[in-house]
Amino acid sequence: MKQTPKNIAIVGSGLVGSLLAIYLRKYGHTVTVFDRRPDIRTIVFSGRSINLAMSNRGWKALSEIGIEDEIKKIAIPLDKRAMHVVGKPMYFQKYGKEGEAIWSISRGVLNRRMIDLAEESGVTFKFEEKVWDVDLPEAKLYTGETEKGEWQEYKFDLIFGCDGAFSRVRHKMQRRSRFDYSQDFIDVGYKELTIPANADGTHKLDAHSFHIWPRGKYMFIAMPNLDGSFTCTLFMPFEGEVSFDSLKTKEEAKNFFETNFPSVNHEIEDLTTDFFKNPTSAMVTMKCYPWTYWDKVALVGDSAHAVVPFYGQGMNAGFEDIYALNGIIEKYGDDWEAIFQAYQKERKPNADAIAELSYRNFIEMSSKTADPRFLLQKKIEKRFAEKHPEKWVPLYSRVTFSDRPYAEALAIGDEQEKIMEHIMGLPDIEEKWDSAEVESKILGML
Ligand SMILES: Cc1cc2nc3c(=O)[nH]c(=O)nc-3n(C[C@H](O)[C@H](O)[C@H](O)COP(=O)(O)OP(=O)(O)OC[C@H]3O[C@@H](n4cnc5c(N)ncnc54)[C@H](O)[C@@H]3O)c2cc1C
Repeated sequence: MKQTPKNIAIVGSGLVGSLLAIYLRKYGHTVTVFDRRPDIRTIVFSGRSINLAMSNRGWKALSEIGIEDEIKKIAIPLDKRAMHVVGKPMYFQKYGKEGEAIWSISRGVLNRRMIDLAEESGVTFKFEEKVWDVDLPEAKLYTGETEKGEWQEYKFDLIFGCDGAFSRVRHKMQRRSRFDYSQDFIDVGYKELTIPANADGTHKLDAHSFHIWPRGKYMFIAMPNLDGSFTCTLFMPFEGEVSFDSLKTKEEAKNFFETNFPSVNHEIEDLTTDFFKNPTSAMVTMKCYPWTYWDKVALVGDSAHAVVPFYGQGMNAGFEDIYALNGIIEKYGDDWEAIFQAYQKERKPNADAIAELSYRNFIEMSSKTADPRFLLQKKIEKRFAEKHPEKWVPLYSRVTFSDRPYAEALAIGDEQEKIMEHIMGLPDIEEKWDSAEVESKILGML
């Protein structure tokens, strides 16, 4: 489908903004991307190096625009979890079927590459230009050094707000009547730490696993980088008995790691220094609607739907927004109002579904992983899914390895949960969990 070339602004050169820019160039639009930060390619050390898990939905959006292979060069496939559970030797849990994997990728490395690719396709970037205000009906942007200082005005045909969870573009839309908005912080924060590579550049832990040290209310994870290091994240309540708040001295932090993560404690670089130097960050679920203003402005990615990171889907969902938007453009051509309407109607239920699934995973990880009945339920589901793969696709696989809508994954997941509640209520389920009787009961309920 051809489109009449437009003059388009994207606010935000993050992962979503840079991918959207590449897509829009394909239609011949003039694309200018604004970011308040300096060019990430010129920053030697950003202070934070979050790793992301890219899965099916993300790859699909990259493949459609022809950059999947390029990005795979900077990613590491992880086909399993490595579980470091108290009192047990480390064991592996395969993610999905043979050949299915999530991919570990450094946010900084990915963002730099995407900006390079966008620039090669003809996108203009304006770094260190913070957008302070947006004139929605006129599609005008106002940038400047400070909120009270001199502003520069830019006029566009269309504006995309890809400026993240605390979006300025959305902030302007929020002031309109009948704009729904909610934001919910969880009481758990996260802090990043590093496990460096061995002297010969190899990884200190298995390089093709997502490492997890689950400890109930808190959890430590590690994902590999190409240079042999691991980026680790400690998730823990902000306040309470075991919390970031309770670890005030280097000695307390050292003891906490020695007691709770003895297998990895000595591998972490500058543990006690980094623990106090690196920030403790918050996590939020943000929902809003509508996502668009007539044929002028649209929100894409975290600016429209920020989710807590416990399903590893935030970026994937943002990339899927772009894939969906592209399909809708193919259908409606130059009718941007129809494009924006169809886009928000299609994506909103799916964004709500992944927000719900991500939150439930947070609850599951923090309160259920030590519950023997929950673990038994997972064992029964796994056994049944392995025996009847065509009848029972686990929820994790529906979200991670499929491109069916998130809302569908949530609905089928709820039906599966109802069946499992019934199964878990059977007398003596602990003894007969792997029996033919339980299997035929599940089959009968499907
Ligand atoms: C701990 C953690 C782990 C995560 N793990 C995963 C994972 O494994 N898999 C996954 O898919 N997702 C994950 N996510 C989610 C993922 O990071 C986000 O969904 C993704 O980064 C959203 O991209 P975005 O481009 O929409 O927003 P952002 O990455 O937030 O980018 C927004 C950009 O807009 C710019 N900006 C903001 N305001 C302005 C302004 N006023 N003017 C100009 N520029 C502005 C910012 O500087 C930034 O460059 C994780 C998130 C967290 C916090």
